[in-house]
Amino acid sequence: MVYSDKVRGHYRQELDGLREAGLFKQERYIRSPQAAEIEVEFPAGAEGRMVINFCANNYLGLSSHHEVIEAARTGLVARGYGLSSVRFICGTQDIHRELEQKLTAFLGTEDTLLFPSCMDANAGVFEAVLNEQDVMIADRLVHASIVDGMRLCKAQQDTYKHANLEHLEEKLQLHQDKRHRLIITDGVFSMDGDLAPLDGICDLADKYDAMVFVDDSHASGFIGKTGRGTHEHCGVVGRIDIITTTLGKALGGASGGCVSGRAELVEMCRQRARPYLFSNTVAPVIVAGALQVMDLVTRNTERRDKLEANTAFWRAGLKEAGFDLKEGESPIVPVMLYNARLAQEFSRDLYDEGIYAIGFFFPVVAKGAARIRTQLSAAHDRRHLEAGLEAFRKVGQKHGILGMGKKEITERFGL
Ligand SMILES: *Cc1c(COP(=O)(O)O)cnc(C)c1O
Repeated sequence: MVYSDKVRGHYRQELDGLREAGLFKQERYIRSPQAAEIEVEFPAGAEGRMVINFCANNYLGLSSHHEVIEAARTGLVARGYGLSSVRFICGTQDIHRELEQKLTAFLGTEDTLLFPSCMDANAGVFEAVLNEQDVMIADRLVHASIVDGMRLCKAQQDTYKHANLEHLEEKLQLHQDKRHRLIITDGVFSMDGDLAPLDGICDLADKYDAMVFVDDSHASGFIGKTGRGTHEHCGVVGRIDIITTTLGKALGGASGGCVSGRAELVEMCRQRARPYLFSNTVAPVIVAGALQVMDLVTRNTERRDKLEANTAFWRAGLKEAGFDLKEGESPIVPVMLYNARLAQEFSRDLYDEGIYAIGFFFPVVAKGAARIRTQLSAAHDRRHLEAGLEAFRKVGQKHGILGMGKKEITERFGL
């Protein structure tokens, strides 16, 4: 088969369409470790420059923590670089099991199974525990990886309006004839930063004999008084049947994910989940680093407390400057701009001011809901936040949007 001019022309046209619509995403090269301040090369080939980072999922500042690096280095020497195997053949070391046990204790569940990523955990878990006699009822804003995992599962699919317990209850009533019902939600929603009402969800699950699934990727390590996650914040530890989460965000930021929850459900994943059976094991160096991360997050709450204080300071500062924010309690603070092109330009102007924060727009968020998603970190010090606020004020002024809400911004810039 030839890659003909006609085929090439088709894809070039598609890509040009994205550029013209202001929807083309450009990677920026980072030349330093992940941290509050990073050296970025943008555009490609330009001189590197130091900028303050407001878009990493490095919530606890552990991505380049010296203890984590040291543990990873030691683990690398002790257990090698790779295992060249999936888990069930010869890809499980004692440290994989040790990490699973630590995650189980941390999350307050019965058992845990590591996956190459949380995307893989979500891709495998539904198919492993449900079939065509069952139903999955998902919040309409769940993460893309959950949507994909649900597609791979033969159970019936349904959805409820975002965080809407009345609508969820209707759906649970509707599906009482099914063998199992599984309610599916993110703990913290990645684009808006809001928390799922897990206490209400668990009550409904009890009332209508349903299981509860929570993806806590944007919560594990820092949401809740001791950072265990959204279930801790909502007072429902022990009532969530399946938790999936990632090691790729607060918990070290390298890679890896897990399914944690009821012992039988986790065992079903060990027997049946395809990304577990057919994709390589998490590298020993990452497992060794993650073990140190678990030690750090259980030692004290210093980091999550600092993150909470940083978030409060940042929100208050942006609000005072006149930005339109999504309300919430998580360190995800979206600055709403509504228009995709404006979000792109705003991000570029921030970069010129030494601030790294990315514009999000369709298809990552709904059309007309473009934004700069800022994320706080325990790695930020007050001076980083003050410099960030100063830059936001300056760029907001330049575009004339300070004090404007959705109506005024969209009237002026369109959707
Ligand atoms: C980031 C994220 C994932 C993917 O995690 P990886 O380990 O990077 O695959 C899955 N679910 C949610 C809610 C996420 O935010």
